[in-house]
Amino acid sequence: MDTSRIPGFYNMTVQERLEVLSRLHGLQDEDIENLIIDSSLDVGTADKMIENVIGTFELPLGLGLNFLINGKEYVIPMAIEEASVVASASHIAKIVRNAGGFTTESTERVMIGQIQVVGCSDFILAKEEILQNKSVLLEAANNAYPSIVSRGGGAEDLDVRILNEGSDSVYSQMLIIHLYINTCDAMGANMINTMVESIAPLVEEITKGKVYLRILSNYADRCLAKARCVISPELLQTGDFSGEEVRDGVIHAYQFAASDPYRAVTHNKGIMNGIDPIVIATGNDWRAVEAGAHAYAARNGQYSSMTNWFKDENGNLVGELELPMSVGTVGGATRVHPLAKFSLDLLGVKSAKELAEVIVAVGLAQNLGALKALATDGIQKGHMALHSRSVAIAAGATGEMIDIIAQELIKEKQIRVGKAKELVEQYKK
Ligand code: NDP
Repeated sequence: MDTSRIPGFYNMTVQERLEVLSRLHGLQDEDIENLIIDSSLDVGTADKMIENVIGTFELPLGLGLNFLINGKEYVIPMAIEEASVVASASHIAKIVRNAGGFTTESTERVMIGQIQVVGCSDFILAKEEILQNKSVLLEAANNAYPSIVSRGGGAEDLDVRILNEGSDSVYSQMLIIHLYINTCDAMGANMINTMVESIAPLVEEITKGKVYLRILSNYADRCLAKARCVISPELLQTGDFSGEEVRDGVIHAYQFAASDPYRAVTHNKGIMNGIDPIVIATGNDWRAVEAGAHAYAARNGQYSSMTNWFKDENGNLVGELELPMSVGTVGGATRVHPLAKFSLDLLGVKSAKELAEVIVAVGLAQNLGALKALATDGIQKGHMALHSRSVAIAAGATGEMIDIIAQELIKEKQIRVGKAKELVEQYKK
């Protein structure tokens, strides 16, 4: 494109935007069809969801199978572009169901709204004044969003911290108020932001300071979900590897991630491979979940493994995953995107709490899938075989050619686009 400056783009219809784009970028008819036709999310709805819409962007939606969580069967909708994630989650869920399934628990769904106050002449006094006026502030916050109170939620508590006390810089000294809000089945960003914005004038009056930021924190450490599984070694036996060898390999792999941030980032990326696809499929905000999860992994001062794997007194492999999980079954895009609505129905979750628990169970399964593969055959054997079809498509294979080329790549142990292009040329001759 010669320019990214297109005045008035936001005011155009989708059709007009496509015409402009065609002029600037030379869109083919096929591009236009891909952008606006055959999409579950109709382009008119998409145009109301975000700005400057020119179409919709689709991902494969697969189903994670075999999940038994707290004795309940779940089919997991997973929207993801990466091969082998869904297969791996389903494989591990089958092993865990034979071990009795996952068990989960979660905290109340309490989210945090932050208010930053600067310029107080006496920060200690301002802090005391806020605490003394706690009930007045909570009532004012709840008055700004009464519907959440009638649902059994709302602002429940607050606390105050002074940051950089005694600093010479007027910029760094501040009072931070945390408003703790039970958001029920919503992720809650908008209701939290409404509440903190609404009480800002009152906070200024009480502290005699000036309020700057008023926004939720994505570090949702009072909105936690936890999953656990206990697996006897015989269920882990794989090829020539005994169950005990697999169990010990998984624990060694975990210890590596627990001790080394370079490994922990990749280990945790593998966990998010399981988590993001459900968060996306259910129309939730995956950036919020990602941000909270990684911050929680560093809560002890060093970035570390999100999961914990160990051997219990009976020799079983035990896995645990606890994460902030600020997802909703209402609000945001959850009831706007038709496939998000479908995914929530398919999951059969009754509350945001239940959804959060299912999500961490899938994250735990995904982690075990990766660690088990790494501790035995290595990740490439299974992954590349499944990836071979994407490689064939990237090389130009279509229709029945895709599987034929993919099989040939696996047979020749060369799952590369260059090789696939050669095979596509040969096939076409
Ligand atoms: P909404 O603003 O859509 O609010 C959810 C609404 O659902 C509530 O206002 C409530 O309205 C209604 N509702 C119906 N049933 C229930 C129930 N059982 N429990 C709770 N609410 C219920 O969504 P959120 O406030 O959850 O905001 C989420 C969106 O905010 C996401 O799209 C996110 O991307 C975005 N966002 C994220 C930010 C961040 O993470 N930093 C910042 C800003 C926005 P009523 O009671 O009136 O019926």
